[in-house]
Amino acid sequence: TAKRKGKNGFQYFDIAMKSEVEFANTVKRDLRLALEKNQFILYYQPLIDLKTGKIASMEALLRWQHPKKGMISPFHFIPIAEETRQIISIGEWVLRTACRQMKEWLGMGYSGFSVSVNVSVHQLEQPNFAKVVCDILKEIELEPRYLELEITETVLIEAVETVVENLYHLKKAGVKIIIDDFGTENSSFRYMQKFTVDGLKIDRSFVNGIKIDVNKAIIDAIILLGHRLKLPVTAEGVETREQLECLIESGCDKVQGFYFSKPLPPDEVIHLVQKGDQCFLISHNTQK
Ligand code: C2E
Ligand code: MG
Ligand code: MG
Ligand code: MG
Repeated sequence: TAKRKGKNGFQYFDIAMKSEVEFANTVKRDLRLALEKNQFILYYQPLIDLKTGKIASMEALLRWQHPKKGMISPFHFIPIAEETRQIISIGEWVLRTACRQMKEWLGMGYSGFSVSVNVSVHQLEQPNFAKVVCDILKEIELEPRYLELEITETVLIEAVETVVENLYHLKKAGVKIIIDDFGTENSSFRYMQKFTVDGLKIDRSFVNGIKIDVNKAIIDAIILLGHRLKLPVTAEGVETREQLECLIESGCDKVQGFYFSKPLPPDEVIHLVQKGDQCFLISHNTQK
């Protein structure tokens, strides 16, 4: 459902009353032109390094500004874009836009963090994906170490040769690969024998329920696993100070969530980028 109300609030009810199928059909129909009509925008959400309190990375999160439906969440259109394979061209736009943004931040003198981009398995299945990424980096003149790709476990569990090859080339080029939503797919750890990643990101469902023993146990286990492999572990979806303190206690390396900041458009996130040069964590703690 769109979150933005129309001027009179009518739009909201309009959407709420429409059947899901009809909404999905509209999405499907209009998605085809969204890219050329320039309706996509990237929001950015910071990942905070718990050791320094500074921004470690900015995750790019895709939004669709639909002229009639308002802002549409990726949950509503990414699955369709994957089905129709439009995710390949959309994903390329995301990569280029995020890299340009990073280049701009670097130009302003902010070099302490990287940009994280979510990548779909369908993109990684393209034989030329690694080349596409490397070409974008060259075109923009962005060092690969400023780019981090977030992939899900599905990518690795079903890892076909093409995927592994792409990941291998990207890693060799200096791009970092992170496993997003770790522990949520029906994961066998076996894929970890096949490919070494650069970090793990704990899904927000575990963080959300951190007060329940089993979630805390899972979080601790993921952190232990990560650290045994010398991988930094990030927790997403941190909303409360209590969750944050629990994660600090567990030895988590990075955190991300509404407690620090919601995903913001570039013109608003710049304030965080400027602040991120200082210690984000302490300034937040003292405010509370
Ligand atoms: P994700 O990569 O796991 O991103 C985290 C999601 O959690 C984001 O939702 C973010 O806005 C939300 N989130 C962050 N902190 C909090 C919090 O404290 N509380 C709560 N309740 N939520 C929080 P968003 O932006 O709607 O994105 C949803 C998913 O869509 C992403 O999950 C990612 O899998 C996918 N996605 C987003 N952008 C892209 C993209 O450019 N390409 C691809 N392939 N997928 C994308
Ligand atoms: Mg992500
Ligand atoms: Mg995630
Ligand atoms: Mg998630």
